[in-house]
Amino acid sequence: MTFGELNDRLLVSRIHREYSQKAFLMVEEFAFDNADERRKVRQNGTGWIEVIAGSMFSGKSEELIRRLNRARIARQRVQVFKPGIDERYSIEEIASHSGQKHMSIPVATTAEMMKQVKDDTEVIGIDEAQFFDMAIIDAANELAESGKRVIIAGLDQDFTGKPFEPMPQLLSIAEFITKTHAICVKCGSTANYSQRTVESEELVEVGAADKYEARCRRCFIPHADAPTLP
Ligand code: ADP
Ligand code: ZN
Repeated sequence: MTFGELNDRLLVSRIHREYSQKAFLMVEEFAFDNADERRKVRQNGTGWIEVIAGSMFSGKSEELIRRLNRARIARQRVQVFKPGIDERYSIEEIASHSGQKHMSIPVATTAEMMKQVKDDTEVIGIDEAQFFDMAIIDAANELAESGKRVIIAGLDQDFTGKPFEPMPQLLSIAEFITKTHAICVKCGSTANYSQRTVESEELVEVGAADKYEARCRRCFIPHADAPTLP
């Protein structure tokens, strides 16, 4: 038995002892394996907030799409939103760099998103959350309090390595946080930064491999740099 499994068993038996009358469930801190699905059971009628944060190419969209697909397989009602600003692949879909897709509704503002949320929706997905306005923070709390599972993916740092609002605030209010990493295209180590590879001082310069690449702490520079790969 691995250490993780042992921990799991101890925890589960403790929870059974303490809450033997109720269906339990909050095992997050102790169970690392496949915790995602087991930990998230609604209690007291509230939902919760999950944030997936990381650099470009780190697999945020992939992870978001994976969770949304599983929710759909479980026959939960899912709605997905993305900011109208990111038209990188398709207006009606969110897409990962590796090609997975999921239907989504483009919205210009948080208020517009909230108008479209249906009462009976159980799972709300939000991609590219760094492009939303600050009202997304209260909105995410409101949705979670009304019983919805809110899954938010976004870039946590801009091209200069600064925290990309409103992601820091969303990370603060989330019950669950997943940090994803890419591979540094220069040296192969863990990449935590999105290196801009075209000259522009704009904070928002929408693009993918044509304008950015993943870099580690050592290889990243907080302004435009020539691309590593031709
Ligand atoms: P994000 O939403 O974080 O930008 P995506 O989910 O869209 O990430 O894309 C992740 C995919 O990007 C990976 O599975 C891989 O196929 C591809 N990819 C391209 N460049 C890199 C890189 N430098 N490191 C890791 N994955 C990369
Ligand atoms: Zn590197």
